[in-house]
Amino acid sequence: MTRKILIAALGGVLAVFAGLSFYRSRHLAEPVVPGPGLTRVATLGDYFAPIKGTINDANVYILEGPEPGGTVLLLGGTHPEEPAGRLASWIFAENAAISQGRLIVILSANRSASTATRVGGAYPPDFTIPTAWGGQTFRMGDRWSNPLDQWPDPEVYLHYPSRQELAYVDIRNLNRAFPGRPDGTLTERTCHAITELIRREKVAIAIDFHEAELQYPVISTIVAHEKGADLAAAASMFISSLEGFSIGVENSPKALRGLSHREIGDATDAISLLLEAPEPFLDATRGRTDRELLLTGRDEFVVRAGRRGLLFEKIDEKGWPIDVRVGRHTSTVLQILEIWSGDHPDRAVVVTGVPRYTEVVEKGRGRSSRTPNRWTRPSSITSSRGKARFRSGRLLPAPGEPDDGQDDGQPQQDAQDQGGRLFARYRLVERGG
Ligand SMILES: [Zn+2]
Repeated sequence: MTRKILIAALGGVLAVFAGLSFYRSRHLAEPVVPGPGLTRVATLGDYFAPIKGTINDANVYILEGPEPGGTVLLLGGTHPEEPAGRLASWIFAENAAISQGRLIVILSANRSASTATRVGGAYPPDFTIPTAWGGQTFRMGDRWSNPLDQWPDPEVYLHYPSRQELAYVDIRNLNRAFPGRPDGTLTERTCHAITELIRREKVAIAIDFHEAELQYPVISTIVAHEKGADLAAAASMFISSLEGFSIGVENSPKALRGLSHREIGDATDAISLLLEAPEPFLDATRGRTDRELLLTGRDEFVVRAGRRGLLFEKIDEKGWPIDVRVGRHTSTVLQILEIWSGDHPDRAVVVTGVPRYTEVVEKGRGRSSRTPNRWTRPSSITSSRGKARFRSGRLLPAPGEPDDGQDDGQPQQDAQDQGGRLFARYRLVERGG
């Protein structure tokens, strides 16, 4: 009897510690240093009210230039366990200065999935990237929305509106639920909100950041809707000759439903593109699945699989470091923007300040990030472009700087003159669940 009570008590203690660990991971704040181009932060719920207040009511960062032009959407975190995608979107939100047009950046397209982990996958809960102001920790996440937010899965998942039958678990996969269903599951409603955003903001190009295992044939490539085939082909050509790496082009298959590159292009006026970088962490033949593998992309078992001809991308002892994967994404987007803007001067999106592949690889993703001078908690900030409301972002005191009590929501006196630079003084926080 005593033994049973002891075992039960021990179980209780373990459950408390495990629960705390899950709670902390789900509520981990992921800071964002608003970059010079940022003029407004909306949330997905502003485009589709039923998402408001849910875990997937993600921040939408709107970066605007003084000259009117086109609008390009960057989607990070469609699959959070492909971290180069989230980090690349972070780089754009934190660094991009815009002289023409608009960039809209979502860092966590499926925030629910960023709070889950792969059952049986032994994934680390998070990983840390060094930055000039200390390490920044990001949730690792999983491919599918958290079952805490959407459950149970059906026996059969029929994609809406095509009615194509997909794997049942993919009803929680954001990249199998586009263009979305207004009265559907959380994942389908999130896709619908993103599609609504694309329509309402008249997005010209939607770019969805991903990574793939080396055993997957669609890798190191731009997957392009037919509307974007020429743009992707030109980008691939320029990248291969100018950026220091090669990237291919794949046509978005018409018969495969639910994917962003197919459905966004079909359902809206936007060109839809999806970028794949190599991530050995996802390979089934990988060895120890830890933070080091995630960040270095080095794994002797994946290398051995390559020697046996089982992979669609090369790999050696150097692996595929996170900086290389992130840099591929930033350079690919910059080339796409430059080609698009050259061909469409009235719908141009002209971006500076974002590090390209060689710079990201040389300096590391972290050091290219902006350094905040101070953290505070204003409810609104005035910039030279008018009022910017940070409705969903929570602002916190900066590391090493005491919360000096001036967090009264009042903008700095010189806000009008500083314009966009003002934002470097603040850190937004991507909330957890
Ligand atoms: Zn993916």
